[in-house]
Amino acid sequence: MVSAEKVKALSELASYDMEQEEQLKHIPLGNSGPLHIYEAKTPMGKCTLFKTLMTNKCKMDCKYCVNARCSKSTVSWKYTPQELANTFMILYRKRMVQGLFLSSSIEDPIPSMESIIESAQILRTKKNYKGYMHLKILPGSTQDQVKRAMQYANRVSINLETVSPSHLSEIASNKDFKNDILKRQAWVRNFQSRSKRPGSYSQGVSHTSQLMVGINGESDQEIFTLTASEYDHMNLTRMYYSAFKPVLGTPLERNSAAPFWRQNRLYQLDWLYRVYKYSRDEVQPAFSDNGFMHNMDPKVAIARTNFERPLEINGAEERDLIQVPGIGPKTAKSLAKAKEKITSLITLKRHGVVLGRALSFIRINGLHQTTLASFN
Ligand code: SF4
Repeated sequence: MVSAEKVKALSELASYDMEQEEQLKHIPLGNSGPLHIYEAKTPMGKCTLFKTLMTNKCKMDCKYCVNARCSKSTVSWKYTPQELANTFMILYRKRMVQGLFLSSSIEDPIPSMESIIESAQILRTKKNYKGYMHLKILPGSTQDQVKRAMQYANRVSINLETVSPSHLSEIASNKDFKNDILKRQAWVRNFQSRSKRPGSYSQGVSHTSQLMVGINGESDQEIFTLTASEYDHMNLTRMYYSAFKPVLGTPLERNSAAPFWRQNRLYQLDWLYRVYKYSRDEVQPAFSDNGFMHNMDPKVAIARTNFERPLEINGAEERDLIQVPGIGPKTAKSLAKAKEKITSLITLKRHGVVLGRALSFIRINGLHQTTLASFN
């Protein structure tokens, strides 16, 4: 029988690996206090996740992590795969959670990865669990392990943590950026197309990663450049950004936290590249000379540089329209296809334009007004 204390502890210790689209919630769990669960957006829709580590015992020395061997944390917890599967199924059958996000600290890379895979295998083949499962791929896992994990998972992730081999070696001296992370991401990418075969638990495994923001001097431009390359070459589904927060008991406990707005601005920039399809060159005006962004919507920063004069809405190309703040891809398409000449704000609004954001960047029939009040 697994103690509620262990369930709670390993779930709480998994909470440092946050993805922005997760919202922390608490549910009662016996006498040992509430259990952390997460409302998350998944490829299968909104889902309440049981997020946990298999163990918090780690031989690595990541300076930001409370589970590292160099941190002051002393109590170790561990599930066997059978225990993890039983625990999850109890929570699942009681409808306390709908999906699983399973990670682990690294006692030894190959056995630690094996215990994640074995848990997933028990859930899929013995417990007949068909719901959402996100499995972490650990640095040092083998190619065969990556392949087997992807047979059970809906999503796998490998955290990049930071932007380059030298940045990583400063904060995690025994993780190798190219070998432990990029090489394993390439395996995931190569197996992704094969996972679409019938018989896999998931028709197409999504692939995500995470970068810490403001941990060791990396600029927003460096973060963006790596992210763009991950979307272009690693078939990454989503990058998650996490503003650095020092954790008590770790070697970085006295470092300053990164401002939260940096994380949010990076999400906005990511959206421009991933969804609005801005090119790498088109986003460059978002960065100042030192490679950092100001606390300003990057779409506005880019538009201020790109639009020397307000854009005439009538006759404008979809590609130009999409760069106007307050105009998204659907609205840009609708405006570019409009058969009737646009002459009023009401028509613009009907197409979906957010007037308050767009007005200073557009002209309608040659007229340019900067406020709603002055536009008749
Ligand atoms: S590998 Fe690093 S980040 Fe992961 S649990 Fe171990 S010390 Fe923490």
